[in-house]
Amino acid sequence: MDIFDQATEAEERHRAQALAEQAAKAQLQDGHWRELSAKWCEARGCGARIPDERRRVVPGVKLCVECQSINEKQQRRAK
Ligand SMILES: [Zn+2]
Repeated sequence: MDIFDQATEAEERHRAQALAEQAAKAQLQDGHWRELSAKWCEARGCGARIPDERRRVVPGVKLCVECQSINEKQQRRAK
């Protein structure tokens, strides 16, 4: 093995490590919203499934889109 091969190997190992770290970080953030956000709507009598997209965009979300808008309307009316 000459020096060029060794350098390439080290570079590839470094790149693979960087990718693994990136993936681990992404997974951590991924798990974060999964824990924070409810999978099912917590409004009484609803229980609709909250899409992953919404759970990710709105971390900590507890209501589906419909219940959220109803809730907001009720809050506005209460003020
Ligand atoms: Zn709902």
